[in-house]
Amino acid sequence: MAENENVVVIGLGRFGGQVAESLLRLGHEVLGIDEDAGIVQRWSDELTHVVQADATDEDALLQVGVQEFTRAVVGIGDDIEASVLTVLALSELGVRDIWAKAISVKHGKILRSVGAHHVIYPEAEMGERVAHLITSRMLDFIELDDGFAIAKTRAPRDTAGRTLAEAGLRATYGVTVVGVKAQGTDFVFAAPETVVPGNGVLIVAGTTEQVQRFAATT
Ligand code: ADP
Repeated sequence: MAENENVVVIGLGRFGGQVAESLLRLGHEVLGIDEDAGIVQRWSDELTHVVQADATDEDALLQVGVQEFTRAVVGIGDDIEASVLTVLALSELGVRDIWAKAISVKHGKILRSVGAHHVIYPEAEMGERVAHLITSRMLDFIELDDGFAIAKTRAPRDTAGRTLAEAGLRATYGVTVVGVKAQGTDFVFAAPETVVPGNGVLIVAGTTEQVQRFAATT
């Protein structure tokens, strides 16, 4: 693997730890950094390299060689000052792809202003997702950037037995059906002549608002 595909993960708490573990599973090498000696000890068998350091200290990061990495993930959340100073240090070291976890919208804004390229709100995003799943026909929901979403939803009852062209879901709701699935079968790509089965499941794409409105109908 090329050197620049390795990832540095700073703050090996619940979020950072999960990111590190998943990266390893995907075959990437991970440099973990945490200021807590106990946490560093716990990760020392699993990660390629794990170092105890205060990530807000640019010199400490330089010594560890963080400037060699293209990608960094900052999992420090609760200590906002440490999270902001760490992103700033990474930015000043020239790390080109900085991902950082935020615990509030204001925190996220600050992270962006000091150099984070991607801000993640794990609790807010998961909370919103769960709210959609428990209040509508949605079975799965992913909101992409810029208010665009993809959802797996049960098909509205009145579409059963009709083709997608007849059902006219794009005209009515603005959503594009991407895939159609009958119970016990695999998804097929949607075509105008695809028939929606009874109790079928659809994958639809559209703006978040369109997808939500569509999934709220019965
Ligand atoms: P989570 O909710 O995902 O567990 P936390 O904010 O509780 O997130 O955990 C963040 C981790 O970041 C902890 O393991 C903590 O030791 C580490 N951490 C906090 N500040 C620093 C810092 N300045 N340098 C390095 N690691 C830090």
